[in-house]
Amino acid sequence: MAGAKPYVGRFAPSPTGPLHLGSLYTALASFLDARARRGRWLLRIDDIDTPRNAPGAVGSILETLAAYGLHWDGAVYYESQHLADYEQALARLQREDQLYPCICSRKLLAELPGRHGIYPGLCRNRTAIPSGQPFALRARSDGRDIVFEDRLQGLIRQNLATEHGDFILKRKEGIVSYQLACVIDDQLQGITHVVRGFDLVDSTPKQIFLQQLLGLPTSSYLHVPIIIDSHGYKLSKQTLAEAVTLRNAPAVMFKLLELLRQKPPVELKQASCPELLDWGVRNWDPASLIKTHAIQPEIN
Ligand code: GLU
Repeated sequence: MAGAKPYVGRFAPSPTGPLHLGSLYTALASFLDARARRGRWLLRIDDIDTPRNAPGAVGSILETLAAYGLHWDGAVYYESQHLADYEQALARLQREDQLYPCICSRKLLAELPGRHGIYPGLCRNRTAIPSGQPFALRARSDGRDIVFEDRLQGLIRQNLATEHGDFILKRKEGIVSYQLACVIDDQLQGITHVVRGFDLVDSTPKQIFLQQLLGLPTSSYLHVPIIIDSHGYKLSKQTLAEAVTLRNAPAVMFKLLELLRQKPPVELKQASCPELLDWGVRNWDPASLIKTHAIQPEIN
């Protein structure tokens, strides 16, 4: 379309297990948002946190997306194939003195009083690391406010220094943090629009900060509500959320459209996934999710 702004979106599941209703909900939202804008929709597997990867999860995720008709464009992007890209970004941040090594243990930090999870900067001005001591890398936050307009959640303003402190870029075990990897992946995939769950809204200022340090453009963000269970917990592996069924995909898809507050007409109750998606793309309007952080499906 001449003159239309490019749109490149993505879905980036971690292969910690099969997709559950909450992750399929996010996948569907990002798919509809991309297709409604005639954009590309890319798939990325966030597989660098290797101890959390579950055997067979990648195959199961791809199979589920295909069964629901959520077809992605191009080849699947695997984070594990981009370790050198993350190292390059870390080297640049190091050269520019935007990060520093930190030897503090989790135990030590947990025992410090009154820090509310904010790193107190104990290693910030350390000049040398005792040899043989494992260390993490932390971003040197500064006093700047990070401000962005979330398409659903409105204006969000955070001061990293006072609200988060210096955050981890690489863990002691040598694993690059989600925050850094995500910024580099979004850059390498040319992502313009991020649609993901509200549970990640607190990560966005950190990612925008890293984009600013690395001279990268900031994407547009839309954080959809998370699906919670009857106890108010986010569906996840920890809450033993069930994998979505492959047998009754159209009924699940219909339910997901309702949970996205898209009001699919009852006549579509017998429709196939491609028909439901076609309706979903033509009618996509996330406005009724404005300011919503969590949604609890009715049990029936
Ligand atoms: N892999 C992350 C997750 O499953 C999502 C990352 C993202 O969308 O930025 O929670």
